[in-house]
Amino acid sequence: MYAKNAWEKYDEKELKELFDFCEGYKEFISNGKTERECVKLAEAKAIEKGFKELKTFKTLKKGDKVYAINKGKNFAAFIIGKEKIENGLRVLGAHIDSPRLDVKQNPLYESTGFCLMDTHYYGGIKKYQWVTIPLAIYGVVCKKDGTKVDIRIGEDKDDPVVGITDLLIHLSADQMTKPASKVIEGEQLDVSMGSIPLKDAEKEGVKANILKILKDKYGIEEEDLLSSELEIVPAGIARDYGLDKSMVAGYGHDDRVCAYTSLMAVLDSPKVDYTSCAILVDKEEVGSIGATGAHSKWFENVVAEMINLQDEYSDLKVRHAFEATKMLSSDVSAGVDPLFLGVNESKNSAYLGNGICFNKFTGSRGKGGCNDANPEYFAEIRKAMDDNNINYQTAELGKVDQGGGGTIAYILGNYNMNVIDAGIAVLNMHAPMEIVSKADVYEAYKGYKAFLKLK
Ligand code: MN
Ligand code: MN
Repeated sequence: MYAKNAWEKYDEKELKELFDFCEGYKEFISNGKTERECVKLAEAKAIEKGFKELKTFKTLKKGDKVYAINKGKNFAAFIIGKEKIENGLRVLGAHIDSPRLDVKQNPLYESTGFCLMDTHYYGGIKKYQWVTIPLAIYGVVCKKDGTKVDIRIGEDKDDPVVGITDLLIHLSADQMTKPASKVIEGEQLDVSMGSIPLKDAEKEGVKANILKILKDKYGIEEEDLLSSELEIVPAGIARDYGLDKSMVAGYGHDDRVCAYTSLMAVLDSPKVDYTSCAILVDKEEVGSIGATGAHSKWFENVVAEMINLQDEYSDLKVRHAFEATKMLSSDVSAGVDPLFLGVNESKNSAYLGNGICFNKFTGSRGKGGCNDANPEYFAEIRKAMDDNNINYQTAELGKVDQGGGGTIAYILGNYNMNVIDAGIAVLNMHAPMEIVSKADVYEAYKGYKAFLKLK
């Protein structure tokens, strides 16, 4: 309501800075198609800015730049502040998993001259959006001898892509009468892998040929797929969107757009009073559970390690640190789509171009499952945004009883820290091609930097 379109305030110098920043982001999501790829990119960026892995430190002092990785899927970067860690951190937390199709453990089969690969979708998707588009295969295959094979097929220009077929319109009389949730069903999301039979194969020659290709290129057997983690994602790079290039179209803005801006805000803030942190978590789209999700003890363990390296360790200091921590749960908001106005309540909606978006609460129905941020805390944040000339807006996820969703905010809130959701508005959320405004990406980055300076 009180928000303004950010584009109107920029001078030429700032516009250039904004577009340059977004080039870095486009490169990040073009290559960071999975949580593992995002961790690799985050680590490389951190090293480039002088960060070192936590386990290489014997003591920690102010100004030290530290990072830690959990199982290749969960990343945290810290800059040690002037204040002791015990006095609290300034945390930006985003997730680096995105909706996709995971390959099953026994995936390959042959039918009518094709080899196909069976998948199980991950996160909330409209299944019909994932057919008839070029797809890529990413992930790891872990062998019994302890070696791990990295797979990345479908991105280089000479690489083949894969995909999922849909029925031709000419024969779709029955299909077109089905509800959208049934037009394409989960078990139909099988990827076409090939169609040349291996000469002299006893049975299932096409599948045998695909297995031969996997063996020749990656040294893996069919049985090795039992211990694999392969993800099917849209192929291709992020692109400028709109004739004015004001937006970015790409896969995985939710939530890599907040992950990138949060990470860069920390990497670009060398001097801080309070220890600043960007934590990038996995598994948000499936409930944040498990070893690499926001519910994991890992983050707490890392902070405990750091307190131990800074000071005489005590459990109480760790608890003090968490209680005094201020956090932004950096996650995307649902942007108002001009073609679907009915789902929003216009005064409390996120508009592309109006800057970083705060959600006091998320959840569904009667705010079910939400972290409802304290207004005392949001007042502090508003001041930080205004003092730093950041365009910001507030929103909720659609009109009351329209639907809903959650973020990691409540999980860290359980430590009794102050947390509010703050992110970037997205169109087409969870579709293979999502849209964000470059102005929002830039305002979020600057807003996150302003937050890290919070007293
Ligand atoms: Mn999200
Ligand atoms: Mn999501």
